[in-house]
Amino acid sequence: MDHFPSHSWLHQKDQLEAFARSFDRDARLKRKRSWLWNIGALKHAAITFGNWIFIPDNYTVGSARNVIPHETLGHVRQYRWCGFGIHPWLGLFPGMFLAYIWGLIFPIFLAWGRYRCELHAESKSWEWHLINGVWTPEQVREKAVRFAGLVAGAAYGFAVPKPWAVWGFKRRAEKVIRKVASKK
Ligand SMILES: [Zn+2]
Repeated sequence: MDHFPSHSWLHQKDQLEAFARSFDRDARLKRKRSWLWNIGALKHAAITFGNWIFIPDNYTVGSARNVIPHETLGHVRQYRWCGFGIHPWLGLFPGMFLAYIWGLIFPIFLAWGRYRCELHAESKSWEWHLINGVWTPEQVREKAVRFAGLVAGAAYGFAVPKPWAVWGFKRRAEKVIRKVASKK
C-alpha cells in the first residue's frame, strides 16, 4: 500500500498541480519514489523530465509550492523551447538531455549547461515571487547565495566552482530585483 508522511505535499496534490498548471498548462506533478533517482543528494531534490515534475514524498505543501515556479517557469519551459515550442517532451532529446539531464548524471561534463538551466529557472522563480510579494529583495539575495552553494555542491554534482556560482547568482539576483522594481 502507498503511504507517505502525514505532512507530505501529496495530501494536497490536486491543488498543487492546479498551481503548477497556472504556470504551464502541461505541467504535472509526480511522486518521486524513493527507489527512483535515489542517488546521493539527488534524493532530496525535485526533478523535472519533460512536463513531469517529480517531488519527493517528504516535501511539505509549503516546500512543494516553493519549488513549483522554479520547475515550471524554468525547467518545463526549457524543455518546451528545446522541443521547438510544441511540447516539453520533444525537448528531452537532444536539447535537455545534453543541457540538464547529462549534468545530473555526469556533472563533470557539460555542467555549464546545467548551471545555466538552474540560473534561468531560479531567476524566473525569483521574479514570480517578487512580483507577487511572496519574497522581499533581501530574501531573494539570501536565496541566491544559498542556491549558488547548492549548484556548486554535492546535490548538483559540483556543477561549477562555488565562487563562480555565487558571483553569477548574486549578479542575476540584482538584475531581477531591478527589473521587477522598474515595473512597479
Ligand atoms: Zn532546477
